[in-house]
Amino acid sequence: MTQTISRASLALWLDALTRDYTVIAPRRVDKLVLYKPISSAEEMVYDFGRTGLSAKEHFLPMMQSIVNIHKDQNGLILEVPRLGRSQVIFGLRPCDARALRVLDAVMLSEPADAYYGERRENTVTVGIACKEPQEGCFCTSMGGAPDDEKDLDILLVEMNDGYAVKAVTDRGRALLAGASLSEADAPPPVSKAPEALQLPTLETWQGRFNEAYWARLSDRCLGCRLCAYVCPTCYCFDVRDYAENSSEIKRLRCWDSCQASGCYRLAGGHNPRPTKRERLRQRFYHKLVYYGQRFQVDLCVGCGRCVVQCPANIDIREIIADVAGQ
Ligand code: SF4
Ligand code: SF4
Repeated sequence: MTQTISRASLALWLDALTRDYTVIAPRRVDKLVLYKPISSAEEMVYDFGRTGLSAKEHFLPMMQSIVNIHKDQNGLILEVPRLGRSQVIFGLRPCDARALRVLDAVMLSEPADAYYGERRENTVTVGIACKEPQEGCFCTSMGGAPDDEKDLDILLVEMNDGYAVKAVTDRGRALLAGASLSEADAPPPVSKAPEALQLPTLETWQGRFNEAYWARLSDRCLGCRLCAYVCPTCYCFDVRDYAENSSEIKRLRCWDSCQASGCYRLAGGHNPRPTKRERLRQRFYHKLVYYGQRFQVDLCVGCGRCVVQCPANIDIREIIADVAGQ
């Protein structure tokens, strides 16, 4: 038997969740669909393909105060901002859920990142399986699948006038306590998967490190950093102090990108990756070789965002094919 929920019951359940949680779901923001807080089910977009940005910003915000400093006649008061309400991410795609596991590897390794850890600890994820691949998708090549449930708390699969519902974790089962579920005889439909790519071997990657290919590729790169900002697994950040006035100061961490010319610059001014060739090559070796060597999972989930959003058409799938020699 398949547990199901009708669209009407789903909307009631979502509305009920907004009373106890910050519910983050695909929502229209100008011409984009983004994961943003909603106050009612009416705001959620159901037929969204792939969102412009992943839900990463709700675990590692674009700009986040890590210490608020208040100065008065008694001295300095330091305050570490906390999350506040627990959150539910609704409508997460399986590749974006896998990206959280990928991020966990580095963010929760000791010494763990307390800010990221707090958000992971206090977030329940409700995924919606993809029906078919979007342009640029290659999740199956990176270990995922369009209906992969394993990095979610609940997976929904669209069927008939609603969704098949699968609670994957105890947290998911608890969240479903308030939902009105039915049962159906038919299994949920099977998602259409993207074609699998042939990945280069480690030896092939190592043998191509010094090739002129990387210089030619980097000639096309604008250094705009978009690929890192749209990526659900990129996690570089920079830390800056910002004074609102003479007594209120925030220590902010802000997304950074390995494609920024100063990203690797060290104190004293030395830059170990001063050229675009070195930085672009590092992006792909880090994603597809080094991270996997360290954490046994690649730093890419095949979401396709960088493929469709890079203004220079630098396509990670083509680089995989070029390195593999296809
Ligand atoms: S999005 Fe494209 S052009 Fe921009 S930094 Fe990334 S690879 Fe270069
Ligand atoms: S590298 Fe590109 S395809 Fe891979 S997870 Fe990041 S944005 Fe998605």
